[in-house]
Amino acid sequence: MQISNTAEQAQQSGLHIIQQLLPYNERLPLRSLNGLDLVVVHCTELPSLEISREYGEQVIYPETRTGNCGHFYIDLDGAVYQWIEVERVAHHVRGMNERSIGIEIVNAGRYPDWYRSDQQLMADPYTAPQIVTMKKLLQRLERIIPGLSWIAGHDELDKELVPAEDNPEILIRRKVDPGPLFPWKEVMADSDLTRWPENSVYG
Ligand SMILES: [Zn+2]
Repeated sequence: MQISNTAEQAQQSGLHIIQQLLPYNERLPLRSLNGLDLVVVHCTELPSLEISREYGEQVIYPETRTGNCGHFYIDLDGAVYQWIEVERVAHHVRGMNERSIGIEIVNAGRYPDWYRSDQQLMADPYTAPQIVTMKKLLQRLERIIPGLSWIAGHDELDKELVPAEDNPEILIRRKVDPGPLFPWKEVMADSDLTRWPENSVYG
């Protein structure tokens, strides 16, 4: 399902979703929307949508000729793109792909030294248009997928530690997105979703 669908819906919500399905979209497994109950918030940890697209298109899993990506991408100017249909399982979070939708926000994060021990601050702020779009996209998804009830940051679901590349004795987080600058309170103000886990560190 490509959910930009009707001009009427775009007008109602003021949200126009630009369809740019990835070449391997149709090779990803189909699922029933009934089993979908979770939104996972990511940031790209890459500085631009173009670079994110290059990463998204890379084939990581040769047996299915697919790669890692979210369903939706929100650019710095607030434009939103759909790269994977919501009824397909995308690889964006360990262990929870089948039940979830991945939303990726363009943000440099730790780029380009993701795994250096001294580059772990997530200091790149989200833009105001990105947050406006995020809120509208959540409202759209809540409307078309009635079973959707949870939302989590990737950093809340994947807490694996890995050795830092500059000093293997220091362990750092493999995933830290969307990080402490993501404005959860503002995003959740107009949403009926519930934070997962409920006792989240970022409140
Ligand atoms: Zn992520």
